[in-house]
Formats: sequence, C-alpha cells, structure tokens
Amino acid sequence: MDFALTKEQEMVRKTARDFAANELEPIAADIDESAEFPTETVRKLGELGFMGMTVPKEWGGAGLDDVSYVIAIEEISKVCASHGITLSVNNSLVCWPLMAFGTDAQKEKYLKPLASGQKLGCFGLTEPNAGTDAASQATVAEKQGDKYVINGNKIFITNGEKADVAIIFAMTDKSKGTRGISAFIIEKEFPGFSIGTVEKKLGIRGSCTAELVFEDMVVPEQNLLGGEGKGFKVAMATLDGGRIGVAAQALGIAEAAFEASVKYAKEREQFGKPISKFQAIQWFLSDMATEIEAARMLVYRAAFDKWQKRPYTVSAAMAKYLASDVAMKTTRNAIQVHGGYGFTKDYPVERFYRDAKITEIYEGTTEVQKMVISGNLLK
Ligand SMILES: Cc1cc2nc3c(=O)[nH]c(=O)nc-3n(C[C@H](O)[C@H](O)[C@H](O)COP(=O)(O)OP(=O)(O)OC[C@H]3O[C@@H](n4cnc5c(N)ncnc54)[C@H](O)[C@@H]3O)c2cc1C
Repeated sequence: MDFALTKEQEMVRKTARDFAANELEPIAADIDESAEFPTETVRKLGELGFMGMTVPKEWGGAGLDDVSYVIAIEEISKVCASHGITLSVNNSLVCWPLMAFGTDAQKEKYLKPLASGQKLGCFGLTEPNAGTDAASQATVAEKQGDKYVINGNKIFITNGEKADVAIIFAMTDKSKGTRGISAFIIEKEFPGFSIGTVEKKLGIRGSCTAELVFEDMVVPEQNLLGGEGKGFKVAMATLDGGRIGVAAQALGIAEAAFEASVKYAKEREQFGKPISKFQAIQWFLSDMATEIEAARMLVYRAAFDKWQKRPYTVSAAMAKYLASDVAMKTTRNAIQVHGGYGFTKDYPVERFYRDAKITEIYEGTTEVQKMVISGNLLK
C-alpha cells in the first residue's frame, strides 16, 4: 500500500493552495458578508484549468485524475467554501455527465467551453416537491416535432443565476416512472427560460443558489443528454461523483477550522498561560486531527476508486457522510476553542461553522448517504 501522492497531485495542491492564499483569502469574508458571486476569481480558476479538471485535454479540460480534483476542492474550500462548491458543481455535475453521456457534437459545443472555464454550468434536479424524492419530477417535456417544450421549475440550483448552460431533468413520459425522466442541456438564452427566486442563505453565501423557471421553453432534440428516458440514470450516476466533491469541500472546511483552532489555542492566554496547556483544549485538537485524517482517507479513497474505474457509489456515500459530520463537529468545537471571540466575525470560525452545514444536505442528505450504504449492505 502506498499513501504517497504523485508529483502531479502535489503540484495541484501547491497551485490550489497558492491561488487560495493569494486570491481567495483576501475576499472570502467579504463575499460571505455581501453574498456576492465572485465572477473574477471563478474566471481565474478556469484559466488555471480547475473548471474541468478530469476532462481530457482534447475536450478542453486539464486531463487530471480524480484524486488531484479532490485535492483542489479541499484546498480551495479550506479558504473559501463558496468557491469550492462553484468548482465542484461545474466539474462533477456538469462536465462529468457531458463527458460520460454526451455525443461528440454536445461535447464540442458545451463541454469544451465549460471545461476550459469560458462558460459556467449548473445542474437542475431539485424541485419544490422533488428533493430527496428526486423521481417525483413535476417538470414536463413534451415532444413537438424535432423539439421539446418544457414547463416547470427547479429550485436551490447552485450557480443557477450565473450559469450559461444547465443540465436539467424533466418527465418525458410520466407513466414510466423513473424511466420516463430525461436529461436536457439548456442554454440561458433559450426562449422561455428565466431565473426566479435567488436564495438568501446561512452559509456558502458567495455561491449563488437560484430557481430556474421554464415556461414553454423550446429545446432542440439534439440537446437530449443520454437518450430519452435515461435521465434518472444520468442524475444518479452524476450525483455519485458529485458527492466526492462535496466530501472534499467538507474536508477543506474542517481543516480550516482545525488550523485556526491550533493557532488560537497557542495565542490565547487565560490563568496566565496559553489555553493550549489545558487538557480540555488539547483533547478538542486531538479529536479534530484524528477525525479529519479519517475523513481524508475516505475522501481520497472514493476519488481513487473513481480514478481506477472501480465501483464508487458506496465509497462516495461514506466519504460524504463522514466528512460532512467531521466538518460540523470540527467547526462547532473550533468555536468552543475560540470562546466568545469565535462567535463573532472577528475570527473566521463562525463562517466555517455556517458553511459546514450545507455539506450534510446537498447532493443527498446524510440520511440518503446512510440509505445508500445500508442498501448495499443488505442487498
Ligand atoms: C444551498 C443549496 C444548494 C443546492 N444546490 C443544488 C443544485 O445545484 N442542484 C440541485 O438539483 N439541487 C440542489 N440543492 C437541493 C438539495 O440537493 C436538496 O435540498 C436536498 O437533496 C434535500 O432535499 P429537500 O431540501 O427537498 O429536503 P427533503 O427531501 O424534504 O428532506 C427533508 C428531511 O427529510 C429527510 N428525508 C427525506 N426522505 C427521507 C427518507 N426516505 N428516509 C429518511 N429521511 C428522509 C431528509 O434527509 C431531510 O432530513 C441545493 C440545496 C441547497 C440548500
């Protein structure tokens, strides 16, 4: 067994870490406060090759492996979790399904500009009454000649307001249940497409989360992704990989909270000595370090499985379940280590705590990950 990273993976870590320190650290607290989408730094991440990291170079990507990808998400999220999810969605939820299910013409038209960062993508599955129960799609696509006419809406869509391209899901034949769901590639300029509610959120406030509205939206049939009736398969396969990205985001947030806690514990004095001399604080730190290491092993393992083309549904679910739990616990205890100061905006741990929560919710809640894991155990 070899736990060492390759030279290329180490290089990706250094590039991501340097970028995060130079470009993201100065704006992370501000975009959290203003809830402003960081267009300029997202563009720069595209120039670095981070928007389509595992997409082959011939299709506009960086041609890297999946472990490199999670290392990048981890490092970026350690400084700014909003950038982390913007990247994760474009890579895992948009570029990946285009690569896996797209025709060459779709890859040429959509994957190339998305993977090279010239365009931004989003993934629209969730609806007001189709969250965990994603199969209950109320959005309908009706075939009319060589086009589909789509009506419905998608809520809580990451990158929604800013995206040029969206992969969305709609019922093409309600009588067939999940086999009646189809995936479509849509462009923001398509007639009948508009943006609805833009959410105000607890955390990842620099990431935009919006409603997509379709009113007699006309979509050419060549924009069907993966074939009619294959949409649910496209969605579920895509989310398996997406969960590895969210797990890496959670890991990065936990690491940031841990490092802030070590620093603060050495600086803060009470009873005439640094609080790091108290066993209660030392135990917080040792728990954090151990649990983060365990989460990292699972996250890298899931990415390694995907890279090696082994089954990764269960390892991805385990990685997201554990890493998001560790992110919540670590950020909560990081505030405890900081005492009252941790509850204020003078220190970043309150942002980390707010950012961590969403990792237990999107791309399948923790309960869903447990359903995936137990479903595999009991099959
Ligand atoms: C900030 C943000 C960004 C998002 N980005 C995207 C995006 O880009 N694209 C997209 O399509 N969606 C996105 N989502 C939606 C997200 O994936 C859903 O919110 C999530 O899947 C949960 O669905 P729900 O909110 O409808 O909760 P519900 O499904 O209503 O769940 C409520 C509670 O019930 C539990 N529950 C539900 N069913 C079961 C069950 N069978 N067994 C046990 N417990 C159950 C859940 O675990 C949860 O605790 C985003 C959401 C947020 C908040």
